[in-house]
Formats: sequence, structure tokens, C-alpha cells
Amino acid sequence: MDLLEYQAKELFREMDIPVLPSQRIDRPTDLKGLKIPYPVVLKSQVRAGGRGKAGGVKFVENTIDAVAAAQTIFHLPIVGEYPEVLLAEAKYNADREFYLAVVLDAGARRPILLGSKIGGIDAEAVMEQMQLVVVDGEFSPFYARRLALKMGLEGNLIQAVSDILEKMYQLFVQKDLDLVEINPLGVSATGEVMALDGKVTANDDAIARHPDLVKLVTKTSNRPKMNASIAQSSRMTEEKAAEGDFPMLTLHPARDGNIGVLCNGAGLLLTTLDLIYLAGGKPASFLNIGEAILQAWTPTVLCDRLERGLELITRDKNVEVLLINLHCHATAGDRMAVVIAEYWQKRASKARLPNDFKMILRLVSSEFSRAQESLKDCPVTIVENLEQAIHQTMGLVKSKA
Ligand code: GDP
Ligand code: MN
Repeated sequence: MDLLEYQAKELFREMDIPVLPSQRIDRPTDLKGLKIPYPVVLKSQVRAGGRGKAGGVKFVENTIDAVAAAQTIFHLPIVGEYPEVLLAEAKYNADREFYLAVVLDAGARRPILLGSKIGGIDAEAVMEQMQLVVVDGEFSPFYARRLALKMGLEGNLIQAVSDILEKMYQLFVQKDLDLVEINPLGVSATGEVMALDGKVTANDDAIARHPDLVKLVTKTSNRPKMNASIAQSSRMTEEKAAEGDFPMLTLHPARDGNIGVLCNGAGLLLTTLDLIYLAGGKPASFLNIGEAILQAWTPTVLCDRLERGLELITRDKNVEVLLINLHCHATAGDRMAVVIAEYWQKRASKARLPNDFKMILRLVSSEFSRAQESLKDCPVTIVENLEQAIHQTMGLVKSKA
């Protein structure tokens, strides 16, 4: 599960990773009681990246502008998600921006340290300078230092960046995380470093062992709820979320069939089911992980629902072939592919899926080729065209019969 930036920064603060003074904003009028001096930056708290480019990060100089900017950001969906809260933070004058991360390498099953002397919103430039150190033994400050040197840092910055990497690594291990990322790490003209943005991904299988993390991610905003029944459901969601459950995902079992169907949208699901019937196929369980079934309070994102959906649908032992049909905005398609690849690696390695289990992914996304790349080691056929997806699915079903 991805934490929101302000939640990640709470963890950073506990670890003494430098962060700026900030305040959570539940509604635009909260800005009238802002305790941070202007200028400040207002940031949309959604899980998607690319908030800067999408207009979800705004700098303001006074209360009137801040309230107006907050109103705009609250009404701006980013990759389909509206922020429930904003973060108001002191503005920082960064001279340079770095990228730092600690991530679990699913292939090597080892943590790796990543660093780039170019951080910020231009992903291509960040990647070009990216350096990597695999932590292949017991961790020591040596690993962090090696990365800082590989990044080409000099003088006091070597120590300053290694110190932060060490703390990021401690956090990563202590809380069983999948990812700790700082992008950008601001560097001031005097060489002071500051985490300007933070991303933390908790491991879904391990989060239950960390009550403090569960508490952090289920703390919802103080904004008035739409009505009592939604507030009630919200409490239910918090309880269920603690158990790692997503009550809004309902699996529909169908008798006799052997094709699992997972789509993001009710219309898409019905169309896909129709086409399967037309081709002579029989659906087994089917599932909608789309946004239409979401309420404003839902603390989940499409990635999480996809992962949860995959788990639910593969519990149905009648599912021999799984057809996943997804329409994604912007870059989300690539992330969906990564979720599927990770899911496959996790389940296949634990022998929780039959050897001959097959998946077809029909993906509509501008990131189709990147998605293809992410799935190249998985037994997943990825296609763009729906008819082709149905055709391939039927081919697999017949080859099993
Ligand atoms: P993202 O686009 O979702 O990764 O959001 P970020 O939090 O990284 O914000 C986008 C960009 O805004 C960053 O790359 C920084 O260049 C800039 N930024 C964010 N926070 C601050 C801040 O406190 N001070 C300054 N000067 N720039 C910031
Ligand atoms: Mn960022």
C-alpha cells in the first residue's frame, strides 16, 4: 500500500530525516489558521506521482491566494483520484535536486539503494543519471557511502547524503517496506539537504505486523462526510483496511465456467463477458475494480484494488485462464503491468498458482510498450485489441481442454 506524502513525511520526521515544517489541510478555510509563514507550497495528497506536472503543487504568497489555490487543488483529480487532504509546507529554495530511494528488488530479493544527481519531475533526466548499489550482505554505512560516491558527490555532500540513505534504510527495514523514496531531495546553496517529497510503500503482507503504520494509513480527514451512512461505511472501511480487506470489491462467481474476468469499469466488464459468451466461452468468477463503485472516502487506489482483485479472483479454483481488461489514463497502464508482474512473481514462487495458469491482459494505455516491457518475464499475453484478447483467451481455454 502506498502512503500519502504527508504520512511518509511523518515517518521521515520520526527517523530524523530532514523535512520542512508542514500542516495538513482538510478544507480550504483551514488555511486561515496556517501556522507556517508565507511563502508556502500547497500539495495535493494523492498517491499518483506527477502531481507537479498535473497542477497539484502550487506556490502561494498569502492567505487569499492560498484559499483559492486549495479550492482548485481539491477539485483537481490526478490519475482519477481527488485529494482528501492537502499538505501546506514551507517553501524551500533548492539550488539542486537529487533522487534517492531504497527499494526491494523483486528479482534479486535484496534491497537496493538508488540515487541520481538529477531529481525532480523530469523522469527521463533522473533515470539517465541513476546509480545503483545492491545491499547483498549485512547493511553498513559503507553501502550508503558507495552510492554517494557513485553519484559523483563531493565534499560535505557525501556525508550528508549517506546519512539520509542510512536513515531511509533503517526505516525500510524497521517497517518492512517495499519502497522509501525521496524525490526531490533539495540541496540548498549552502549544502543543506531537505526531503521535499516522500513516497513510502508498505508491504501488504507485512503491514499487519506494524500497528503504527495501520493507524497512520487509516487516519482519515476531518472533512465533513456526505452523510451518516457513508461515515458509517468509512469506519467499516478503516476496520476492514486494518485487516487488509477491501469490502467494496465483490467477486461474482458464475457456475460451470473456467475464464476469470477482471475489468476496471462496469460497462467494460459487461462488454467483455458478452464477447466471451459470443465466442463460445464460459466465464467463471468476474470482478469489477473500477472507479464507479468507489465512494469519496475510499482509501484505495487502482493499483491496490488490482492487487486485491487478483488475489480474490485466483482464489476461485475454476479459473484456468484470467482475462484482465483495463482502460487506464496517462501513465497508470505501466503501473498496472508492474502490479501484475509482482503478483505473478509472488504467487508463482509460493506455488499458490497452478503451473499452467495463464493470463491475458488487454490494456488501453499510452504506456503500452512500457507495460509490455514490465511483463516480459511473466506468462502474461498483453494485447491492445479487445477482439484479439478474446481470441487469445479462447485459444488458451481450448488448448487446456
Ligand atoms: P510529484 O510531482 O508528485 O513528484 O510532486 P513533488 O512533491 O515532487 O513536487 C513537484 C516539484 O515541485 C518538485 O520536483 C520540486 O521541484 C517542487 N517542490 C515540491 N515541494 C517543494 C518545496 O517545498 N520547495 C520548493 N522550492 N520546491 C518544491
Ligand atoms: Mn516528487
